[in-house]
Amino acid sequence: MSDEYPEIRLYIDGQWTDGSGGRGDDIVNPATEEVLGRVPFAEGDQVDAAIAAAKAAFPKWRDAGPDFRSGILLKAAALLHQRADEIGRVMTLEEGKPLAEAAGEVHRAATGLQWNAEEGRRAYGRIIPSGPDEILSVRVTPVGPVGAFVPWNFPAGGPMRKISAALAAGCSIVIKPSEEVPGTVSLLVKAFADAGLPAGVLNLLFGVPDEISRRVIPDPAIRFIAFTGSIPVGKHLAGLAASAMKPAHMELGGHAPVIVCADTDPVKAAKTAVRAKIVNAGQVCTSPSRFLVDRRIYDDFTAAFTEAMAAIKVGNGLEPGVQMGPMVSHRRLAAVSKLVEDAVSLGAKVATGGKAVDGTGFFYQPTVLTDVPANAALLSEEPFGPVAPVAAFDDLDEALEVANSLPFGLAAYAYTDSAATAEKLIAGYEAGILSINHCGGSVPQAPSGGFKESGYGREGGPEGLEGYLVTKRVSHRLQ
Ligand code: NAD
Repeated sequence: MSDEYPEIRLYIDGQWTDGSGGRGDDIVNPATEEVLGRVPFAEGDQVDAAIAAAKAAFPKWRDAGPDFRSGILLKAAALLHQRADEIGRVMTLEEGKPLAEAAGEVHRAATGLQWNAEEGRRAYGRIIPSGPDEILSVRVTPVGPVGAFVPWNFPAGGPMRKISAALAAGCSIVIKPSEEVPGTVSLLVKAFADAGLPAGVLNLLFGVPDEISRRVIPDPAIRFIAFTGSIPVGKHLAGLAASAMKPAHMELGGHAPVIVCADTDPVKAAKTAVRAKIVNAGQVCTSPSRFLVDRRIYDDFTAAFTEAMAAIKVGNGLEPGVQMGPMVSHRRLAAVSKLVEDAVSLGAKVATGGKAVDGTGFFYQPTVLTDVPANAALLSEEPFGPVAPVAAFDDLDEALEVANSLPFGLAAYAYTDSAATAEKLIAGYEAGILSINHCGGSVPQAPSGGFKESGYGREGGPEGLEGYLVTKRVSHRLQ
């Protein structure tokens, strides 16, 4: 157990509480393999209590109005900015990402909360001109209590996207984040409580994921489902939502292509792509993960990319100068190792990396593979690790076809100096998130989300509130 790590509890109806059945799991520091603490599991009656609390709190929160709501949310955001270093340290301990990256994530989560708090004040309806004896209007109203499930890769950013959109829209929420990284989200919830959020508006559960989602999703009190995670789990939860006719957001995985054209500077492109590739040790749904490079600059790009990947300092994220931390768990380390071993056994060449780092912790070397055969699992399964296969192309249309050939459609990237080529790729890519001449991340003012099996619904921007609102058409005849 670590003194630096908070005690983890459930938060139900404004009260911090232990799991009533005594079940739980150890929380492991992925850099040291030390046990940080224990996460309690909610029992069925506690899940029901959280749903009941969200149901009871909803009409009061909805009717309190946008000024009251945004006041509390902005106060919570300010507290999170103040506490970012302290919360970032807990995130590094439980998830592994370097301290600066972790604290930066808390600041970004707080900024996203500020943005949604303001946007919630602009959830306007409209008046439609009609005859003299009728007022025809469109009203938007919060959909109701939300059931949300988020994974471990962004312990602050993931939960905050759902909590901030739900609360800003006027909904209450029951959220089940990852049991592997419960400390960060507990400190987020504490900031909301300290900001004066009324009891029951935000409820935090940990437990056996399948037990909780099977109880939360069908419950009639829950009106909207929001999930981020893997495609198989997303399909399962979307099925549960569909059988109860619940609307849902599914923010699932991807396998982002990066098309590097001959008219770009290959060295500059390689350097910016490496920075994006190593963020969170590649455990990002939008991580650049299939590099397709014009053959005319392939050697220059691959050399610069390999050199920059090999130079990345890997280690415990609490140590100064570390650029990339461990995989979140032994499970993820084993999965990444298996994908690389499979590719190499089929003939791929290791330009750099290719192995787990010897010793304690779940570290994997930043890895570049070339000559990866088409039947290698790495080219069709999301690596979710610091692994980059690089291949040459001769024809842009063929590269686009390869890029679009998978069932995913989340992020896609391109490097080109030609506006016409960029526009061709923007039109041709089957992806919901495109970056040209960089591989940058999400911003609160614009929507993120997928095509195809990468899911549906958007987070961020005005679109991000849409799922949490219902639209009413009102025709009011004047007597
Ligand atoms: P996983 O699918 O087992 O778990 C992902 C998250 O979903 C976890 O936090 C887990 O608690 C939750 N979950 C699992 N089953 C659930 C259920 N029945 N009900 C509710 N929640 C449930 O995957 P993993 O091993 O943690 O990660 C592996 C893969 O997941 C990656 O390869 C990647 O494709 C995907 N992933 C995607 C994202 C994303 O941001 N889109 C994030 C994390 C993981």
